Amino acid sequence: MNGGTDAASEQVAILIISEADLEALGGENMAMYIKSGNFNWHDKQEGLVMELSKLTANHCCFCDILPVSKGEIRPTVEHFRPKSKEKFPHLAFSWENLFLCCDQCQSYKLGKYDILLLKPDEPGYEFEQYFDINFKEGTLQPRSSQNDEQNKRAAITIDLYGLNKDNRPTARKRELKKYVGTYNDKKKICELGGIPFNLDDYPSLELEYYSYRFYIWFYNEI
Ligand SMILES: [Zn+2]
Repeated sequence: MNGGTDAASEQVAILIISEADLEALGGENMAMYIKSGNFNWHDKQEGLVMELSKLTANHCCFCDILPVSKGEIRPTVEHFRPKSKEKFPHLAFSWENLFLCCDQCQSYKLGKYDILLLKPDEPGYEFEQYFDINFKEGTLQPRSSQNDEQNKRAAITIDLYGLNKDNRPTARKRELKKYVGTYNDKKKICELGGIPFNLDDYPSLELEYYSYRFYIWFYNEI
């Protein structure tokens, strides 16, 4: 997930605004630029997306879909705390505030924010602490065994990123079906040949390669 080390932060600062631009803006001018809300760094977006993608192996930080690239699922850079003039303009270029986000999550979230929203790289955050899954429907729900605040945080996160909206539950169900099908095929081939089935022998079954890997991981755990 998003790291925010000093070195990475420095590297991305250069990607967002060139050194020459930084120098030209420097000091008070830079503050004015941020205050204006005129965040003209989209020509640097490609490099920034590349850096952020490395941290999540091309998965969206919020819904986990793969691959967030130039194809069907377009990448966007999510400002977790919105960069608008009225909200958090001072975080517009802050590495810790930037996440790889699919265009679908972005289209639901837009400039919304809630202090209880779950941040993917929050220390100690684990998907299974906050969410339950309805495999029949393909939906996420706040985890029933957790306390009120944790439930509220999960519910707000589901709502703001539209995690159960439109085709998303169906897409999860389809992905799970694909995974289970591949798993069973491999197992059957092994059994027919009298060979014990070992998941480690099949890199294509590694969850990293599936959309919604947290969802599939959860399925394997129950
Ligand atoms: Zn997403």
